[in-house]
Amino acid sequence: MRTEYSTRPREQITALLRKERRYLSAAEIYALLRKSRSKVALSTVYRTLGLLETKREVSQRVDEHGESTYVSCAPTHHHHAICRKCGKVEEVACEAMESFAGELRTHHGFELDDHAMEFFGRCAACK
Ligand SMILES: [Zn+2]
Ligand SMILES: [Zn+2]
Ligand SMILES: [Zn+2]
Repeated sequence: MRTEYSTRPREQITALLRKERRYLSAAEIYALLRKSRSKVALSTVYRTLGLLETKREVSQRVDEHGESTYVSCAPTHHHHAICRKCGKVEEVACEAMESFAGELRTHHGFELDDHAMEFFGRCAACK
């Protein structure tokens, strides 16, 4: 028996998310994979996304309908600027946060050890 697709599900899903650069639900990923003739099962998509999330290769956010969506992520610390129109996710650096952390320490004696932020607006193509 010959397998049509030699690439493994994990590679297919990673490649798809890197190409799309927007938050997609497991069902959307599954539909896009089927369109490109992949035979990956929906349960495999869910399992693989869980694995990639554990390895911090994707990040998850719950959308306005309460559905989990996923985007591929660089290994270094960054934030997401999300386009409201096309959904494109831009990875942005956060130097400004560094000085804010200093301010928190000076004025409130608060030691910041983690933070998460999202920015919403229009990307360069959608302005
Ligand atoms: Zn990211
Ligand atoms: Zn856009
Ligand atoms: Zn940051």
